[in-house]
Amino acid sequence: MVMKPTSPTTPTSPVVACGFLDSCFLCKQKLLPGKDIYMYKGEWGFCSVECRCRQIYMDEEGSTIKTKKKG
Ligand SMILES: [Zn+2]
Repeated sequence: MVMKPTSPTTPTSPVVACGFLDSCFLCKQKLLPGKDIYMYKGEWGFCSVECRCRQIYMDEEGSTIKTKKKG
């Protein structure tokens, strides 16, 4: 592996420090810098409100055990 020295003149790059916001928490779709990121619980990022809603729904499903009737 070759270690490259960081160039002093680095152009302003998008913030990629937060690794968990690199992709949607639910569908793992790449989160683009220009796109909106939907936060949940302050640490999870989602590509769309739908993905976030699903996660919230699954969270509630998991915390409250219900007896489901499936036909
Ligand atoms: Zn998603």
